[in-house]
Amino acid sequence: MEEFQVIGEVSSMNFKEFSEFARAQQLHQVQDDAFGIYDIFPYRLSYNRQTASGTANAQGFTVWLLLDSKPDDALVKELRAVVHPFKVSVSQSAESGIRLSFPKKWANGETFDNVLSKTTDLLRNHGLSSASQCPICGTQNCDILLNWKGFYRPAHQSCVQSTLSTGVETARNKIQNGSYLTGILGALVGSFLGAIPSFLSIWFGNQIVAFLFALIPLGAYFGYKLAHGKMNRLVTVITIVASFVQLFVLEQMLFYFNVVVVTGLHPSIFDTITKYFQHYTVSDIVESVGMEVLFLLLGIWISWQMITKTGYSEVSSLQTTAATIQPYYNGSTAAQNTTAAAVPTSTTISTPHSCAEETYMKPEKDPWEN
Ligand SMILES: [Zn+2]
Repeated sequence: MEEFQVIGEVSSMNFKEFSEFARAQQLHQVQDDAFGIYDIFPYRLSYNRQTASGTANAQGFTVWLLLDSKPDDALVKELRAVVHPFKVSVSQSAESGIRLSFPKKWANGETFDNVLSKTTDLLRNHGLSSASQCPICGTQNCDILLNWKGFYRPAHQSCVQSTLSTGVETARNKIQNGSYLTGILGALVGSFLGAIPSFLSIWFGNQIVAFLFALIPLGAYFGYKLAHGKMNRLVTVITIVASFVQLFVLEQMLFYFNVVVVTGLHPSIFDTITKYFQHYTVSDIVESVGMEVLFLLLGIWISWQMITKTGYSEVSSLQTTAATIQPYYNGSTAAQNTTAAAVPTSTTISTPHSCAEETYMKPEKDPWEN
């Protein structure tokens, strides 16, 4: 044990070192993930990037395994004890998934081999195996492996191919077949509805609530989407413009209702708009809407992730999934139930330059074209 601790505790791993490690292990790397088979267990190895918050696992890596059934609590406890000397933590994920987190000082080949061999031995001794059913049709005899919802698992090429191409087609249709006209109308209606809570809070509560302003761009975005607007990058621009138009409408509505309350008259909305600009100087207006503009920008920033998720990003994430596909020869993992049989299989599948892989990868390639 002492020996492992000395060798194990070396240094953190940057992304370049992670990529080198993946290559040395003959894994198939796609962006921050690398895929391979250990013993009879296909796994995803994900690089834990350094984040702003700096978690304990940053610059380490995580191994994700999907089993054929859920490990019981006693087994999980035993597994925790076995990997504890390597500072690796075990958690359960999804219905039958296991996650092994290697902290940064322990993310190296030595620790990886020790932990993976102990883990797979233990799982196998308890009669567990890797998932063998296709996630789409639920039957066995799979012919490919791919990253599906975070786990590297077997599937049928035909099932995945049709699911992915349908997904790509739907996303492309959204880009090509939408209409700007209905989309813009949808964005105006949506942002108007999104502005109602802000109107009520200003009118009745006499206060501007920052988070309510986030509903304006969100309303614009969902309005655009529901009205079948073209889902390309103009979504962002239209959402922002519609939000600012709505801010003007909000300001005019408040002015109009003020006039009604003060004078007791019901003038036309055009009269009050003219009055508004006669009554207020530019600096008055800036002062009046300054805070609202700030909150609106905050709202746009809050909803940014959602707004920028257009058809293009859907296509590119499907292509990333497609790029993880590798051929899988043993549909039944039971057939390779010995380590000796498993090793050559894993080498063949993981070799980055195998011809079979080229054939599988080409149709769906160009993942980062976006
Ligand atoms: Zn299938």
